[in-house]
Amino acid sequence: MSKIRDEILSVNAKYAEEFGEKGRLPMPPGRHFAILTCMDARLDPAKYAGLAEGDAHVIRNAGGRASDDAIRSLVISYKLLGTREWFVIHHTDCGMETFTDEVMRKLLRSSLKCAAIDAGGWHDAGGGGGSAEGEMISWLTISDQSQSVLEDVQRIRRHPLVPRDIPIHGYIYDVHTGRLIDVPQATAAGRAEPHAA
Ligand code: ZN
Repeated sequence: MSKIRDEILSVNAKYAEEFGEKGRLPMPPGRHFAILTCMDARLDPAKYAGLAEGDAHVIRNAGGRASDDAIRSLVISYKLLGTREWFVIHHTDCGMETFTDEVMRKLLRSSLKCAAIDAGGWHDAGGGGGSAEGEMISWLTISDQSQSVLEDVQRIRRHPLVPRDIPIHGYIYDVHTGRLIDVPQATAAGRAEPHAA
């Protein structure tokens, strides 16, 4: 039996008991916006941005990067579900700053077991399989948070499937204070053109 599974099901039973009117929420987000952010366990977009069920789309991946799949979700978010304003939120102390494509590929090639990090970087425990398949994935690592937010806002802004009247805001969440820090150059790059298609 999994302890985590038991914990989740126990909490869920209570949540469902008090679900009430939330069962009647419509599918489109009530506040018409979407957040693209990192999967980091310290980030809780519902809390840091004040979201209730039904309010907004939250798209998460490692780094909160504007990957092809994140853009797929954003396009569905506006085209079919009516969001009109987007946020790209990366954060301080992101794990994606601790390695490069080269490091990740080398670790995966040598072993599928968990790697460990110390002052010298990531090290492989060795002894468990290993695959060259990591070469086929762009890991979308981050070397500078402001730059990664800017690049992702720019990529979304320039995407041919994204209408130019959707504003895209760029922020960094500070894991030590819980505060959202504006990345002005990203928000400038993501500015909407109200009269454009
Ligand atoms: Zn992160």
